[in-house]
Amino acid sequence: MNFNKILSQVYKKYNVDDIAVTETDRSIVLTGECDNWANIVAIGKMFVTEGKHVVNDIRLKGYSEKPEQLPALRDGALEGTSWDVVVIGGGISGCVVARELSRYKLRVLLVEKHSDVARGASGANDGMVHAGIDLKHRCLKLKYVVAGNAMYGDVCKELGVDFRRTGQYVIFDSRLIRFLAKGTVRRTAKFGIPGVRIIGKKQLAQEEPSVKDFAVGALYAPSTGYVSPYQLTVAFAENAVQNGVKVSLNTAVLSMDVQEGKVARITTNRGTFAARCVVNCAGVFADKIAAMADDRYFSIHPRRGTDLLLDPKSQGVPTQTVSMGPTLKSVSSFGGGSTKGGGVIKTIDGNYLLGPDAVEIPDREDTATNRESFDNVFNKQTQVCPKVKRGDVIAYFSGVRAPTYEEDFIIERSTKVENLVHVAGIQSPGLTAAPAFGKDVASMVVDYLNGTGAQVLPNRDFDPVRPRPVRAKDLSDEERDALIKRDPDFGKIICRCEGVSLGEIKQALHNPLGVHTVDGVKRRVRAGMGRCQGGFCMPLIVDIISKEFGIDVNDVTKDDDGSNIAVGNIKEV
Ligand SMILES: Cc1cc2nc3c(=O)[nH]c(=O)nc-3n(C[C@H](O)[C@H](O)[C@H](O)COP(=O)(O)OP(=O)(O)OC[C@H]3O[C@@H](n4cnc5c(N)ncnc54)[C@H](O)[C@@H]3O)c2cc1C
Repeated sequence: MNFNKILSQVYKKYNVDDIAVTETDRSIVLTGECDNWANIVAIGKMFVTEGKHVVNDIRLKGYSEKPEQLPALRDGALEGTSWDVVVIGGGISGCVVARELSRYKLRVLLVEKHSDVARGASGANDGMVHAGIDLKHRCLKLKYVVAGNAMYGDVCKELGVDFRRTGQYVIFDSRLIRFLAKGTVRRTAKFGIPGVRIIGKKQLAQEEPSVKDFAVGALYAPSTGYVSPYQLTVAFAENAVQNGVKVSLNTAVLSMDVQEGKVARITTNRGTFAARCVVNCAGVFADKIAAMADDRYFSIHPRRGTDLLLDPKSQGVPTQTVSMGPTLKSVSSFGGGSTKGGGVIKTIDGNYLLGPDAVEIPDREDTATNRESFDNVFNKQTQVCPKVKRGDVIAYFSGVRAPTYEEDFIIERSTKVENLVHVAGIQSPGLTAAPAFGKDVASMVVDYLNGTGAQVLPNRDFDPVRPRPVRAKDLSDEERDALIKRDPDFGKIICRCEGVSLGEIKQALHNPLGVHTVDGVKRRVRAGMGRCQGGFCMPLIVDIISKEFGIDVNDVTKDDDGSNIAVGNIKEV
């Protein structure tokens, strides 16, 4: 790679002339200063080359990194303990890895800095189990998305989580694009993505009348499916706990002590402990965790995506997921851009999502929403369903993806710190891929531990089945009657929009992870996720939590410590 040539291109394109480049055995390291974040990211991409990772330390002029959100808890609960494997991060990656490791007789600890699992990207995504049609090259993403997608039916059955394989339409508005899509069909067949085909205007109009006006056909990917990303993450974590893993919430890794090329001790806000092997599943903080082990050879550049949630009663929405394909203008970016284009997505719960977009941001925890993203997502995605109105949007949220500059996953044992495994750069479609890479990560850990002497034995008591929580909504009238007779709490509806009963809320509150927050209930049973967004049921849930655990109403939190909903009495009676 000719650095000087690229630097002169950087100068020409961005008028930036104080960038320095150095090369190490694993990385190309950039330093300097620039006054535009998007340009910093674009410059980083110009240095991507085969076999090395970009570490982009170009500073944004006038910007200082916001302090990381960290838990205040200091109880020493983990002080002096010792673990075979410590998994850092309670997103889908960490929870799948922990559950895979629970197939072995190992002392496994998963630490998550928030008060629940699924608080990072795993709790704020589209829940699409991707087919992989956008991927153009053989890479880790492709390997794991194809394998992960195929595993979803079985794994969701084991974990008692709903999954539907509905397929996905990618709409063409020109005959030329439809013709070019034949290349995508050939490529996906070569990559092992099942059944991708082109369907004509007539068939599309029959299957999706809402888009019939302008579409000349669509690419159809039958293996696309949907899952609740947070319920699945919770289910993996619960099954891991059921099989002996310890999950420590409100626990942030603050530093690591590396001795003789190994992580010897990990310091958290809840104490310092020893680990034989460490798995870094820290999402947007994965490079920070790597740096703590003096092993930073890649950079994560946060990329925010905003989604809009529609009222399930919205008119004129497609019956399944429909994405706008490339147009003549954008054809060069088909499969190459930083989002898969999103779409109008029918979630597993019957709502529709519009989105997401993709915006490069400097702050890793900036999940704010704004007018610009709202407008961009709404205008882009409603091209396929023009009857949808702004008033149909009942909520919107953002999540932050964690790409590397190479835009591929990093799933490997460190070459520098021998007991450290990185699961990094897990941007979309990480949710899809996780069941597959989780197995490989567990094998890497077991192989490493076996190599250190003591043989790792299988956990003969491992039970892959996580009992499915009772959901009154799923039952027939007779079954529900019988349930209510056994426990009248299942007849008291607390969340009217989603039809969630007191019995289900109590069941969710007594979860194996010990999460007693309002949002913990929401993630588990959807209370508060309907049209009124908790306006009616939230005070009731606060009261239920207070009574169930004998705590003062003022001490009930929405989520992390400090997110108390009530702050005191305004009137004494
Ligand atoms: C808007 C959007 C839409 C998406 N849509 C899809 C989709 O439809 N399908 C799909 O397959 N993928 C999708 N993705 C991608 C998917 O969400 C991610 O790939 C996946 O959730 C990443 O999971 P993770 O566990 O690696 O990271 P995360 O879920 O971010 O988890 C990392 C965890 O590590 C914790 N952590 C960080 N630092 C520390 C520390 N120091 N100590 C302790 N804990 C720490 C964090 O709190 C966090 O909980 C989408 C992503 C976004 C943002």
